[in-house]
Parts: sequence; C-alpha cells; structure tokens
Amino acid sequence: MNASLPTYLVNEHLDPWRVFLEQVERVTPHLGALERWVESLKQPKRILIVDVPVRMDDGSFAHFEGYRIHHSLARGPGKGGIRYHPQVSLPEVMALAAWMSVKNAAVNLPYGGAKGGIRVDPKALSMAELERMTRRYASELNLVIGPDKDIPAPDVNTNEQVMAWFMDTYSMNQGRTATGIVTGKPLAIGGSFGRRDATGRGVFVVAAEAARRAGVDLRGARVVLQGFGNVGAAAARCFHEAGARIIAVQDHSGQVHHERGIDPAALARHAAASASGVSGYADASALSADEFWSLDCEFLVPAALEGQITAANAGRISARMVVEGANGPTTPAADDILDERGVLVVPDVIANAGGVIVSYFEWVQDIASFFWSEDEVNERLDHIIRDAFIAIWDLARDKGVSLRTATFIVGCTRILEAMELRGLYP
Ligand code: NAD
Repeated sequence: MNASLPTYLVNEHLDPWRVFLEQVERVTPHLGALERWVESLKQPKRILIVDVPVRMDDGSFAHFEGYRIHHSLARGPGKGGIRYHPQVSLPEVMALAAWMSVKNAAVNLPYGGAKGGIRVDPKALSMAELERMTRRYASELNLVIGPDKDIPAPDVNTNEQVMAWFMDTYSMNQGRTATGIVTGKPLAIGGSFGRRDATGRGVFVVAAEAARRAGVDLRGARVVLQGFGNVGAAAARCFHEAGARIIAVQDHSGQVHHERGIDPAALARHAAASASGVSGYADASALSADEFWSLDCEFLVPAALEGQITAANAGRISARMVVEGANGPTTPAADDILDERGVLVVPDVIANAGGVIVSYFEWVQDIASFFWSEDEVNERLDHIIRDAFIAIWDLARDKGVSLRTATFIVGCTRILEAMELRGLYP
C-alpha cells in the first residue's frame, strides 16, 4: 500500500484515511459503469497546509499547523467543519473531508466535501489567543474559501463564537459583511434556529427510525454515549425526552454510570460548572473504560472522535445497535465483528448528517436574507434525514449489504455521476 501513497503521506499515521479507502473498496463492486471514476475518490482534490503564527499573551510567538482540504467539489462548493485538537493530522482531515463528500451526497445536498483543522490544544489558550489564532487561520484560508467556494462550520472544540470570529475576519478581508461564509454562527449574525442541536437531533431521528424497523422500543431503552459535547449532549436530550434512559456517558474526563438513567440536563450543568467534563457527577457512579464498552444497552452512540470501536473492543460491545454521532468511530474490522455478532451499525455518513443539513438551511437563509422559524427548520430536517435513511435502509435490504455500504452506494453514485456528466477537464 505504501508504494502507491502520495509523498506527502509518507511517515504519517494513516489510520482514518485507510479506513476511508477500505470503505471505498467495499462500495466499488456496487458502482457499475461509474467504477471507472472511482480512483478520483481516493485522493483529495486539493490540500492547503498553512502556518498559523500567533502572538501569545506573554509576548512570545507560537506556530500551529492548519489545514483545509477539498475532497470533492463535483456537486457544489465544499462544506465541512473545522476542528481544533492536538491530534489533528493531514490523514485525519483528509478522511473527514472525504466523509463529508459522501454524507452531503447521501442526503442530496448541493455540496462537495471539505474539512479543516488546526493541530492545537485549544484548552491551553486564552480566549484572546484563541481569537487571534482563528482570525489568522481564517485569513490564511482566504485562497480557498468563500460562500460559493467552501463554507466551513463547527466541529470538535469549535463553536458559535469561533464561527463569529471567522465570519468577521472573512468579512473584514472582503470589505463587506458575508454571513454565508460559515454556518453554525450565532443567531444574531445570520445563524439558524435549530443548528446548535441539529446533529444530535438527527442522530436521534435516525436512531428512532432504525429502532422502529428493528423492533426496538424506545421507551425505557438503554443508551450509552461516548462524548458529551455538541453532538452527544443534544442526542442525549432527545433520547431522554423520548423516554429512553441514558445509562452511561464517557468523555475525555472519564465515565459515569447509572442503570436507572442519568438526567442529561443535570449532567450538562455539572460538566459546565466543573469545567472538567462529566466525571465526578454526583448522581451516578464512576466506571472503568473497559466496563463502559461492555455495558448491555439498546443504543451505543459514539459521539467523540474516530477510531473508538476497533477489533480490540468490538467483540465486547453488547448493544443492539451502534448509531454513529462521531465521524469515523468504527474501523472496517470492527464493522465486520459487529455484523457477525448481529449488532446493527447506523453509519456516520447518514446518522450525523443533521448538522450539515441545517448548515445548508442556514446558508440558504443567509443567501436569501429570509429566516425560518425553529419549527420549520426542525420539520424540514426530520423530513430530509428520515427519508434519506429509509431509502438507504431499503437499499441495504435489497442488496444484502451493510447500512454503511448502502450509504456509500447512494453517496458515491451521486458524486461519480456528477463527475461523469461534467467530464474530465481539459
Ligand atoms: P465537541 O468538541 O462539542 O465534543 C467532543 C466530546 O468528545 C467532548 O465531550 C469531549 O470530552 C469528548 N472526547 C474528546 N476526547 C475524548 C476521548 N478520548 N474519549 C472520550 N471522549 C472524548 O465536538 P462535537 O461537535 O460534539 O463533535 C463530536 C463528533 O461528532 C466528532 O467526530 C465530529 O466530527 C462529529 N460531528 C460533529 C458535528 C457538529 O455539528 N458539531 C456534525 C457531524 C459530526
């Protein structure tokens, strides 16, 4: 495999990108005549690596490595989030951009796939340093972003405030206010109702539909969640409101467990007040990571980082279904183990599409300068994601493939059809 690697990947830790390539291998036999275009999915269209120098509060300078990657622009402008994390790497951002291409096509949004990130521990920065880093990064990206070129959004450790700085910086550089440059903005500057909870809400809508089809009752169902950030906490609220029990939560600080159920609102208050995460929550007991992955439950929702469910722990997972809130949480080897053990996997490329669907709504509202009510947003989100999931479910049953391969069939077919119609330039 190394022989065919582009030189910029030599010496990189390749896991997420390898996972994506393996997923493309698995979909290839189902692409028919479009297979002749499939090589173009196996490399990003464009990679931008930027140095982000930041003046620190103590007067010193720090340099961070930033990325923005366009995986495919065949179906429209690039769309995908920005991650701030110490483990951000080129192959990780490549994989995240590629999953955005497949996801956006799978739910039929008029977008290509993109992703960005900075290798940084944002928790070690002051607010002023975070703002300066964001503004410099946004300026460095000027070459490749724009409301009709590439529209970033929040991801791990980035939020509405970061999007507001990003939008302001781009607007200053352009000499006009450009609300459509990012999504996930605060409401006061062109954000959309419903965006904050959209990914978690979509995870729940898809999980509920999968449960209905698999004969799992939501009321009293046990939910185990990894990650209690934007995606995990919103999904937890939706499950809780539907009568399911959140029996365990893991985040970077540790694991908490209560078989009768944890109130997600109280847990969120604890995590915000302690500023250190879910551990130490008084109405639950602590649990080891090993015990966490072995808990009996109906829904296991990974909503943190990629590569969490691997051959090392898949054999111990005792869930009826895994619903992927995170991007890339399950490796192909783990997919096979879960499949053999009868655990249904609802893949990221459909399960967490709620965020980008409402990002699309936000972008449409910004372009039209006409804003929708929260009910309209949620109704349209539920409708799009449920219909897309049902089509994928039916395709998986017809073809006898996993839900992941079925989602890749829908997404990759749309991307490659667009490429074929546009033709190869020149
Ligand atoms: P976030 O920064 O709001 O939350 C991340 C959560 O993961 C936190 O609770 C953190 O404590 C936890 N975490 C970090 N490292 C961990 C570890 N080693 N073990 C256990 N938990 C850990 O991020 P988010 O926006 O909620 O994103 C979570 C996942 O969902 C990512 O994979 C992201 O790409 C994906 N996603 C996010 C969106 C979105 O709209 N924000 C949309 C689609 C997919």
